[in-house]
Amino acid sequence: MPGEFITEAPISQVLDGHRLGEPGTVQCMNGECQQKLHDGHQITIYTSQSGGGTEWVITGVYCAGDCEPEPSNHQTDAQTDVIARAWLGVISLAATQVSLLCVTDVKVVG
Ligand SMILES: [Zn+2]
Repeated sequence: MPGEFITEAPISQVLDGHRLGEPGTVQCMNGECQQKLHDGHQITIYTSQSGGGTEWVITGVYCAGDCEPEPSNHQTDAQTDVIARAWLGVISLAATQVSLLCVTDVKVVG
């Protein structure tokens, strides 16, 4: 089928360098924490890929450790959920002088 391809790359490799789209900080999504996380923090990310898609979407960002919610465990055919540990890094765009957060050193944990 035109345009279709199968990626055999490990999810961690696909997610490595994934931009979070926030300049500067991203907020922990645990309602009791809401800490502003920045470059150098270790985080836990929840990601999902809809059926047939090749695009991984980060659905949650938390401080690594205490802030992680329980895994939902509702894997379906329509969606694949992955939990991974990563470090926050920064991509600097010289042309626009903007620094964007990204995830680096991704390790899938669940
Ligand atoms: Zn937190």
